[in-house]
Amino acid sequence: MRLERIAIVGVGFMGGSFALAVREEFPSVRVFGVDINPDALKKARELKVIDEGSLSVEDIRKFGPDLVVLASPVRTFTDIAQRLKGLDAVITDLGSVKGALVYRLEGMLGSRFVGGHPIAGTEKSGVEHSRADLYKGKRFILTPTPNTDTQAKQMVRELWLRLGSLVEEMDPYLHDYIFGAVSHLPHAVAFALIDALIKLSDGFDLFKYPGAGFKDFTRIAGSDPVMWRDIFLENKENILKSIDVYIQSLEELRRLIEEDRVQELTLYLKEARDNRNRLESP
Ligand code: NAD
Repeated sequence: MRLERIAIVGVGFMGGSFALAVREEFPSVRVFGVDINPDALKKARELKVIDEGSLSVEDIRKFGPDLVVLASPVRTFTDIAQRLKGLDAVITDLGSVKGALVYRLEGMLGSRFVGGHPIAGTEKSGVEHSRADLYKGKRFILTPTPNTDTQAKQMVRELWLRLGSLVEEMDPYLHDYIFGAVSHLPHAVAFALIDALIKLSDGFDLFKYPGAGFKDFTRIAGSDPVMWRDIFLENKENILKSIDVYIQSLEELRRLIEEDRVQELTLYLKEARDNRNRLESP
């Protein structure tokens, strides 16, 4: 496959890592970055993540890319797509929400828009944390619709395979149900747990005492608030359903403790542990 010119909108941790990975695989590629933050563009140039950059999405037209990648927070995508209407390029994204958003973007950008979500990343944000190997050996979910252009889909699939990802296709709405449960819910719980500790810190600082368990469990609450605000709002229906079910599970646990149900409590914890231990990588 040939890839000569790519444009990345949102030159942060994910977009920057994508640029570095593509550069490794296609050494002669030219990378154009767009970001609303001049500092991100400056750092991206210094780190050789991009060749040139601009604060304006419209400048992508002059650059003339083969591929455009949306890598900013998901709620910015619609406005960016509005500015890219009619562009002759394959357009894809790295956003954590698909579902209705994919259909909205396809409606604006046409059948050469191909939704995607790399299941890679950390709580880090910003281009300075970019890594060329971020996507290697990690799952990449491709979310085409019945209207997606076959060649465009093939190009995006092949690209991610070349970057070392394990590509899987999924319906955009199913994606949001699944990742609402396995990714968005745990992030909501981690943020809420910290909120609970703030409330429990009644006159003393509870945050001085946590051990390794607390640190492991809440690592993801160190993630970018704007990115997560956008994910929660854009996947609202699924995240609300997941939170409701989680509240039921927590209430069940609370009841077993309150009523000293020794056997049932042991079973509840054993079942949770056994399912946790079934987790596989990646
Ligand atoms: P980040 O904060 O590191 O980078 C986002 C960049 O987008 C920033 O440089 C910001 O200035 C820029 N930006 C914000 N609004 C913009 C706009 N309107 N136009 C252009 N640039 C804009 O965040 P990230 O972790 O790289 O996440 C980027 C995307 O990747 C999000 O859509 C997120 O859902 C998705 N994603 C993140 C992870 C993860 O673990 N971090 C995993 C999978 C997918």
